Amino acid sequence: MGYSGVGGFFDVKIMASQKNILVAGAGAAGLTAALFAARSGARVLLAEAAHLPGRKISASGNGRCNLSNTGLSPERYHGAPALAATAFTGFGAEQALAFFTGLGVSLREEDQGRIFPSCGRSRAVLDALLLAVSESGVSIALDSPVSLVRPQSGRFLCRYGGAEEVFDSVVLACGSCAYPQLGGGNSGYELARSLGHAVTPLSPALVPLCVKEKSIKRLKGIRAQAELTASLAGKTLSSSSGELLFTEYGLSGPCALAVSREAVKAMSGGPVTLHINLFPEICDDPFKRLIEARVHSFPSRKMKEFLAGLLHESIINLACDRLGSPAEKPVSDLSSGDFKSLISMLRDWRLELAGPLSWREAMVCAGGVCAEGIDPSTMGSLKVSGIYFCGELLDVDGDSGGFNLHFAWASGRQAGLAAAGR
Ligand SMILES: Cc1cc2nc3c(=O)[nH]c(=O)nc-3n(C[C@H](O)[C@H](O)[C@H](O)COP(=O)(O)OP(=O)(O)OC[C@H]3O[C@@H](n4cnc5c(N)ncnc54)[C@H](O)[C@@H]3O)c2cc1C
Repeated sequence: MGYSGVGGFFDVKIMASQKNILVAGAGAAGLTAALFAARSGARVLLAEAAHLPGRKISASGNGRCNLSNTGLSPERYHGAPALAATAFTGFGAEQALAFFTGLGVSLREEDQGRIFPSCGRSRAVLDALLLAVSESGVSIALDSPVSLVRPQSGRFLCRYGGAEEVFDSVVLACGSCAYPQLGGGNSGYELARSLGHAVTPLSPALVPLCVKEKSIKRLKGIRAQAELTASLAGKTLSSSSGELLFTEYGLSGPCALAVSREAVKAMSGGPVTLHINLFPEICDDPFKRLIEARVHSFPSRKMKEFLAGLLHESIINLACDRLGSPAEKPVSDLSSGDFKSLISMLRDWRLELAGPLSWREAMVCAGGVCAEGIDPSTMGSLKVSGIYFCGELLDVDGDSGGFNLHFAWASGRQAGLAAAGR
C-alpha cells in the first residue's frame, strides 16, 4: 500500500506565544518536538551533542527507516503504560502517515503493518525532517551537549556547548544509553535526575543474546525458522516465532531480539533458559508421527543420515554429538529414551542465557525516566513546570517493527506542542 502527496497536517500556524524553548537532542523525538513547537509559534533552539543530527534515524531499519506501524496497540509497548499510550492515542499510525506525507515523504506499507519511505532510504526521512525544521525557523546548534538545566525564577538557565542562555521551557529529548556509537549516553538521565526525576533500572532490549554453551559457535551464520522461548524457573517469560540466526556467541535475528527484553531483565532473578523449537509449524503428536514414519522408511540409517533433509547439516552434526553413542546406531535400534532425547533436542533444545551481547548492539533501552513524575497528556514534568520529556529517554520501549520511532515522533509532537503552550 502506498501513501504520498503533501497533506495539510499543519494547517494552523499560531503566532500568539513567542516562548523561548530549548530542545536537547536532535534525534527523532527532538526534531519532532522542535518542529511542532516552532510551528506553534515558539522560538526554538535545538542543541545536539554530536556533530550530526538524527544518526539513529539514518541507521534505522537497516538504512530503510521503519518509521511506524499500522498495528499500534498497547501490547506492543513496555515500561510505563500511561506514557506509552501517547503512541497510539492522539497521534496514531494514520496521523504519522499524514505527518510524513505532509513533509513530502512518500510512504509504503510492508508486511506486518510496517511503514517505510517508498524510496527505501532512511536518509529521505531525516532530510525531510531537517528541511521542515529549518523552514520553520528552528536554530540548530551541533556539537553542543546540554550540560546544565537549572530552574531560575520560573525559567531555566541552560548550558549547551560553550554557551549559557535562559529559556522559558526545556524539552529533554536526549535518547537512551543504547547504541553509544550513534549517540547513546547517560546525559539525559543525569539532567532528569538533576531536576528531581527518578530513572527506572536500565537494561538492553532488542539485543542479541549470548549463551553459555560454547559449541553454539559451530552454527555461526546459520538461519532457521524456529520458535524461541525464554523461561525462568519453568515459567515462560516471552516467546517468538520466526527467523533465528545462530552466531559465534549465541542467538540473534528477529526471534532472539523479540524475547531479549524479558529474558535479560529476568536474569537478576536466576538462570534464564532459552528453548529452541526447530519445528515450530508442527504440533507435538504430528511431529512424533513424522519421526515414526521416517524410522519406518529408513530403519537402517544412522542419526546423521536419518535427519538429512530435515535440518541444516551443521545442526544435525551438533545434535548427533549431543546425543552421543546412540547417534552411531541404526535408528531402528534406538530405545524410546533415545527417541525422547532426540525429540526434545529438536523441539525443546535448551540453552542457558549468559547475557545480552552488549549495549553497543542493543537497539533500544528498557527503562528510563520514570512515568511517575510526568503528565502523560503533555509529557510535562510534574516536578518542575516548564520541563518536558520525549522519546527513548522515557521509560517506554516498543517491539521491533516501527514502534520505537513511532513513540519518538508521537511523544516529541506532544512535548513540542505543550512546551510552546498549545
Ligand atoms: C541500529 C538501530 C536501528 C533501529 N531501527 C529502528 C527502526 O527501524 N524502527 C524503529 O521504530 N526504531 C528503530 N530503532 C530505535 C529508534 O531508532 C530509537 O528508538 C529512536 O531513534 C529514539 O529516538 P530519540 O530521539 O528518543 O533518541 P535518539 O535518536 O537517540 O536521539 C537522541 C539525540 O540526543 C543527543 N543527545 C544526547 N545527550 C544530549 C545532550 N546532553 N545534549 C544534546 N544532545 C544530546 C544524541 O546525540 C542524539 O542525537 C533503531 C535503533 C538502532 C540503534
